[in-house]
Amino acid sequence: MKIKKIDIFYFDIPLQEPFKISIGTMAAANNVLVRILTDSGLTGLGESCPFPPITGETQETNISAARSLRDLLIGKDPLAIETFIREAGSFLCSNPSAVAAFDMALYDILGKVSSLPLFRVLGGEKSALETDITADLDTPTKMAEKAKSFVAAGYRTIKIKVGQDPDMDVARLEAIRDAIGYNSAVSIDANQGWTVPQAISALKRMEKFKIHFVEQPVAAWDLAGLRAVRQQSPIPVMADEALFSPHDAIKLIKEEACDYFNIKLMKAGGVLNALKIAHIGEGANIRAMVGCMLETRLALTAAAHLMAAQRNIVFADLDGNASHTIDPVVGGMSVKGGIITLPEEPGLGVDVDPAFLKKLRKV
Ligand code: MG
Repeated sequence: MKIKKIDIFYFDIPLQEPFKISIGTMAAANNVLVRILTDSGLTGLGESCPFPPITGETQETNISAARSLRDLLIGKDPLAIETFIREAGSFLCSNPSAVAAFDMALYDILGKVSSLPLFRVLGGEKSALETDITADLDTPTKMAEKAKSFVAAGYRTIKIKVGQDPDMDVARLEAIRDAIGYNSAVSIDANQGWTVPQAISALKRMEKFKIHFVEQPVAAWDLAGLRAVRQQSPIPVMADEALFSPHDAIKLIKEEACDYFNIKLMKAGGVLNALKIAHIGEGANIRAMVGCMLETRLALTAAAHLMAAQRNIVFADLDGNASHTIDPVVGGMSVKGGIITLPEEPGLGVDVDPAFLKKLRKV
């Protein structure tokens, strides 16, 4: 079997309102869709979601990288995923989301060849998972209202964005706990927004709000700072922006800088490297969350397959499409009250609505 054709599309999804975190604001999900066709008539679908404040990629850099990756893959064996990731080389550093889109599409084909859903190809058996949902930065009152509506919709875990002025962040958590009580689990994500002393003092003040863990309290490059926060924080620390690749996972373990990993397909460059990170974590007794950017249900479904196949991925933050105004994906995972159900169709089990696909700009 050989790859015969690869289509690349601009895959733009408007948001109900801009998504705001401590290091930037996203006005829309400007994603890229990749469709790989084989000479045996199989199709694999993949999606990139460049999130400039975190990975430094844009839709345009992803499109440019996708052109090169397409040239690399035409005529090749779609099942040789390890070879593809090796040959993608530095694109993994410069445009990991673009690599992720291709990797995902190749895994989609692998599942179709095997006549199994991807999570079963990877050795998983559990098709129902639970995800949290995120309240992005806003006033304490508005964030508390949002958290309350999430609990009313059935979510049992709420993720709260923080990482601005620590007094304001404490006020946010106070308002949220006042609104939802203590029956729901709460985690927080500072997205690198605090200095080391700010993080240590803020996390001590937040202990009373029963926080499950804090994501990336300080700058991504500051592993010594992350370790210092971990040593003095009463709240466990999860590495997110400090963890893109399997190499980063090793560094974090050596530095004893975190309690948990946040693994994202868009940082790792897809499923293969995400699995490697999860395995490294497992070997060091570090449990993980699978997270996302602003993907549609296409890439979110790929991430859910990964979680279902990996025992030490115990948390999910797969709500990337919560603020999308449209859902162009047919099939794929479904979410109700925070419970994700995976499809049993071969591969990712997703398609893009043909009417929506027809309107997309092809590269
Ligand atoms: Mg995060």
